[in-house]
Amino acid sequence: MSVKRVLVTGGAGFVGSHLCERLVERGEDVICLDNFFTSQKSNVVHLLGKPNFELIRHDVTHALWLEVDQIYNLACPAAPGHYQYNPIKTMKTSVMGAINVLGMAKRCRARVLQASTSEVYGDPEVHPQPESYRGNVNPIGPRACYDEGKRAAETLFFDYHRANGVDIRVVRIFNTYGPRMHPFDGRVVSNFIRQALHGQDITLFGDGSQTRSFCYVDDLVNGIMRHMDLDENFPGPVNLGNPGEFTIRQLAELVIELTGSASKIVHRELPADDPKQRRPDITLAKERLGWSPTVELREGLERTIRYFKSVRLEDFRAPTPNH
Ligand code: NAD
Ligand code: UDP
Repeated sequence: MSVKRVLVTGGAGFVGSHLCERLVERGEDVICLDNFFTSQKSNVVHLLGKPNFELIRHDVTHALWLEVDQIYNLACPAAPGHYQYNPIKTMKTSVMGAINVLGMAKRCRARVLQASTSEVYGDPEVHPQPESYRGNVNPIGPRACYDEGKRAAETLFFDYHRANGVDIRVVRIFNTYGPRMHPFDGRVVSNFIRQALHGQDITLFGDGSQTRSFCYVDDLVNGIMRHMDLDENFPGPVNLGNPGEFTIRQLAELVIELTGSASKIVHRELPADDPKQRRPDITLAKERLGWSPTVELREGLERTIRYFKSVRLEDFRAPTPNH
């Protein structure tokens, strides 16, 4: 296989940095593009000396002009506290970012993959969620800037595909965790581990009976790359996530056990529109991509806890006050 020129937008972020690492290891010519809103250079600093890695500071809401063969479009704040900080900018990032990468893909005849989300299903009434489920999203709630932004991006991807023949791939990512999550992103795994390691109270929102399915980042990156590299014309959308479903209370208890922490669980108000349940139906990913996750939650959490023990919180800038 010849070397490909690959653009990863949002490449310095949590998922993006793992993806860049894998692509660099495979020998591709990788361009990582990021505005560093929710990330920092330290996530990719180990790649900076490599001849096949390049880092560009740029905002995807502005036009891009590069020559590439593949584009992974990951640029978008993903944690609720981050995407709600400037909701209008979040919507612009999803929609204008999609238009800009799609325009570029059309011009270069590049294949382009969109990092969509389980949030397109909103607070789902169908459980587990197959790709055919059209979702239950509140279009005017606090999560709408992200959910509807991602839904609009999917629309743009499929319209560019139908109208202009752009070679698209759409993956719907369910909650993913692992090393390089931002310690102040306010997401549940990073919050609980940070709190447990620093002897702070574990903040359980609501009664903790809401569920999520947690996918380890290496599994997710395998799935994303499989979809991009698939020779057949299969635009998706395809769910990528780990079907193991846990209540948030179970997660809190597991983090306390694995860290050996003396932290106590305290209750906080459940945020508006917080989905009550979430679990991917991954039948399609199994059939079409031959993909399913392999890392169990306990093992993935152990690896993530090791990472959180190895970093100094002073080295991180909280992107927003919402953590
Ligand atoms: P992240 O916040 O760590 O990464 C997002 C990256 O995009 C950051 O580096 C950020 O600085 C960059 N970015 C944000 N706005 C930008 C802009 N306007 N221009 C250029 N760069 C910009 O989050 P993540 O968890 O790595 O998420 C990556 C992608 O995967 C996102 O698109 C997210 O919506 C999607 N996703 C993630 C999850 C998950 O659980 N991690 C679940 C569903 C979907
Ligand atoms: N959550 C929690 N305590 C926290 C952070 C989050 O109980 O400190 C809950 C949150 O209300 C939600 C779940 O954990 O029910 C997952 O939250 P996260 O922000 O990680 O992701 P999302 O809601 O987007 O799936």
